Amino acid sequence: MGVRATVKDRVLSGMQPSGALHIGNWMGALDNWVQIQDVFDSYFMVADYHSLTTGYHDTRDLPQKVLDMVIDWLAAGLDPERSIIFRQSMVPEHAELHLLLSMITPLGWLERVPSYKEKLKELAQRDIHTYGFLGYPVLQSADIVLYQADKVPVGQDQVPHVELTREIVRRFNGLYGEVLVEPEAVLTEARVLPGLDGKKMSKSYGNTLSLGESQDSVKQKIRTMVTDPARIRRQDPGHPEVCPVFSLHKVFSDPKTVQEIEESCRQAAIGCVDCKSLLASAINVKLDPIRERRLMWQSQPERVEEILHEGARSAAELAHGTLNAVKDAMHLKPQPLNGNSW
Ligand code: SF4
Repeated sequence: MGVRATVKDRVLSGMQPSGALHIGNWMGALDNWVQIQDVFDSYFMVADYHSLTTGYHDTRDLPQKVLDMVIDWLAAGLDPERSIIFRQSMVPEHAELHLLLSMITPLGWLERVPSYKEKLKELAQRDIHTYGFLGYPVLQSADIVLYQADKVPVGQDQVPHVELTREIVRRFNGLYGEVLVEPEAVLTEARVLPGLDGKKMSKSYGNTLSLGESQDSVKQKIRTMVTDPARIRRQDPGHPEVCPVFSLHKVFSDPKTVQEIEESCRQAAIGCVDCKSLLASAINVKLDPIRERRLMWQSQPERVEEILHEGARSAAELAHGTLNAVKDAMHLKPQPLNGNSW
């Protein structure tokens, strides 16, 4: 096993740069990242190479998307003093280790990754029958093992990717000696928030509330949200278990309010307009400090870039050590020149 630099377990998490984030991204992953900063030696990566696997066609807005996303990370509470925040392409070791691991990864292992065929179908309108897209899980493996990450917090759908990483690590260590650390998947409960139309909240459905949404916009959008379709009149008893407004109450309102709403809805003691107004207030209370920090970071984009540079420098220290050990084990380290050569 590799040498550990600290006594804390190390984790690596990444997110593709998709621009400004919405409350679904926040509650689905980002909030969890903020919580684990003090528990683990944490590395948070802007996975910009990964975004090319499905979005290589037009990369002009990539810099802005990276900036907007990192501003939202910082606004949500990621702290560069307590974690390493960096951009994948600023640490070239990711690309080099990806190349080396791709040499030992059988094609069959990649073709059987469940998300491969699913994504090909899901994104049928884009041409992603590429070498890069098939190899995406190898890049992910390189990301994880570069930092000798012990733990990888993932949702259920990502477990096969961590399994593949473990297989690649075992194969590498079997061929060249015990150099790489086998990471362990830590299942995190990925909260999936409903969007305004009741479907999963997603930018592609246009049903989101962004982290930077103004107070008025939150109120206005929540007012348009779908509710229990069977509750047509005010006096009809409702079914909170099928109502997306109630699902959001469970995330943003305190437990006592949630219980009261549940009971009042079933007895038709509260109307949907009032229920939504309570939800908008609860969301606004949680978003207020984020909005404030967001404005602060938006006014200093140079500082955000600086954080990414500092993060890349710290990440590279560790990544460089791993890559050196890998190249050493594979007999790829050049011999030093003696005085007479060339
Ligand atoms: S009262 Fe609230 S929980 Fe009940 S149906 Fe209306 S919006 Fe949904």
